[in-house]
Amino acid sequence: MTGTASIARKMAQPPDLSAPQRQAYSGSRIERAAAHRGDERALAAFATSNRAGFYVLGGDAVVLKYHGEGLDPLFSASEVGALGEASETVFLGLLEEAPRFGFSLAPAAIEPLKARGDLQLIDLRSIAVQGAIAAEHLPPLAEAKAILSWHARHRFCPNCGAPTKLVQAGWRRDCPACEAEHFPRTDPVVIMLAISGERCVLGRSPRFPATMWSCLAGFAEPGESIEEAVRREVAEEVGLACARVKYFASQPWPFPSSLMIGCHAEALTDNIVIDKIEIEDARWFDRAELTLMLTRKHPQGLATPPPLAIAHHIIRAFVERGRDVLVN
Ligand SMILES: [Zn+2]
Repeated sequence: MTGTASIARKMAQPPDLSAPQRQAYSGSRIERAAAHRGDERALAAFATSNRAGFYVLGGDAVVLKYHGEGLDPLFSASEVGALGEASETVFLGLLEEAPRFGFSLAPAAIEPLKARGDLQLIDLRSIAVQGAIAAEHLPPLAEAKAILSWHARHRFCPNCGAPTKLVQAGWRRDCPACEAEHFPRTDPVVIMLAISGERCVLGRSPRFPATMWSCLAGFAEPGESIEEAVRREVAEEVGLACARVKYFASQPWPFPSSLMIGCHAEALTDNIVIDKIEIEDARWFDRAELTLMLTRKHPQGLATPPPLAIAHHIIRAFVERGRDVLVN
């Protein structure tokens, strides 16, 4: 099943607005235990502990094992050793003193696993959309995927071009040639709802399922504050000027390593001019229409993103609280 098809299927189920579901990937119970990252002896003991659990990535896919009727993303030290050669191993932290690691398979080890009947390789977005595993595993999987993706893309020093080496249990790469230290990066993305009175602006990307409308979003640029990035993105994508910007919440988005920074913004103008390169369409929606979309009762079948995405919660807060979201 493609990610888009599975999102469309999930969207057919109306969310229960009386019992809000949480967004995916945040709320980790793991203590990162950074003090252990330089302690080789402790790390070696963690890796062979019978309480150790490994989250396994094969390229962009997560490796899951069948466990009864369900799927389990945690492998023991002996199970992970039998899967194949590691590309990198990263210490994620401790869950009630049980060590947790992220483990990426070498490219040659991935293909044979796809033929095994006891395993499933699924991308992390589809896992969240389908509810394929217990929700508590999504934050550590997001941590593992973001950091292992960074390693996969930073094998050579951006300063001098020499091969770099994983150190600090996976939380740094050092260059033996020029001695530069490279730290994992997170890319900030602003995602916002521009509001004017009882209305707000939603847009559509050509990548969205046909009926889905969502918040505008874009990468914050170097030398820009969150507020400036929100105002610039709204101006670029829909031609509106914004004044006040209010932070709402954030969400790790490990595709590959973004942090979604959710905001509400006060629109000063109302004439939408769409940047057709960035988005397919955009228009104003009032709170009554948004309520129909959130509850999957819209007469044309229009819908907001599902609760796993922060966009759902940014829109929902405006439906519930109106323009108060700009002050409280
Ligand atoms: Zn270097």
